[in-house]
Amino acid sequence: MRKPFVGGNWKMNLNAAASRTLADDLARAIATDRLDQACDIAIFPPFVYIRHVHNVLRDRSSSVMLGAQDVWPEPSGAFTGEVSAAMLKDCGVSVVLTGHSERRHVIGEGDELINRKTRAALDAGLQVILCIGEKLEERTAGQTDAVNERQLRAGLANVPAGHLNRLTIAYEPVWAIGTGKNATPADAQDAHTKCRAVLASLFGADAAGRIRIQYGGSVKGSNAGELMTQPDIDGGLIGGASLKAEEFLSIVRAAAAAPAKGR
Ligand code: PEP
Repeated sequence: MRKPFVGGNWKMNLNAAASRTLADDLARAIATDRLDQACDIAIFPPFVYIRHVHNVLRDRSSSVMLGAQDVWPEPSGAFTGEVSAAMLKDCGVSVVLTGHSERRHVIGEGDELINRKTRAALDAGLQVILCIGEKLEERTAGQTDAVNERQLRAGLANVPAGHLNRLTIAYEPVWAIGTGKNATPADAQDAHTKCRAVLASLFGADAAGRIRIQYGGSVKGSNAGELMTQPDIDGGLIGGASLKAEEFLSIVRAAAAAPAKGR
């Protein structure tokens, strides 16, 4: 069965004190309510606060995974401003995002670089959440499935089957990220089914049936329940709503309460 997985992407928000407080509030509530029994949970602070959050999670012996919002594909060298997978591991990180829409469309990353980052992180033993999703004009032009397929095939090129147990996909329609607009649960389910079919053609049906596919894009406590009960939605990647402990926890609770999925 696929255990749901909810990630909180803090983006470039908060400061050191607020990062510690938010991590502590989450770790405490998740342990008290044993939410981690039914849902995997990760938080992705800005790089500079990874150590602060690491210390909070360590002191609480928390099962919440520490994530990084990005990674550079080379192990070391003259890459000013960048951070390698080994450095992230050294700071207690266990999961990284690749291909987030803001890195694709604001920073300008292409499929080839995203694939290198994905492979480097997996090769280093990290978990990866590979983010994909169409822009509004692509959706309007009827290209949603083609865009998702291209981003999946390119992002996962030459990923060995042995690494798939550390891979999660996040389907995040770009027009829904940070806009307050959602895909309907039915539209999201439809996109997830098609993504899983692409994964099946790449890796076989069994492997595809085990890979978790999160939904992302303006998920909140109020809309999480309906999304999380869809049969191919295995949790969520949460931006804005992950900055408030109670809002994020209500999404985690919705994912934890959803019926079991997979075989
Ligand atoms: C995200 O950053 O991945 C995201 C889905 O953001 P938001 O929840 O704010 O739309």
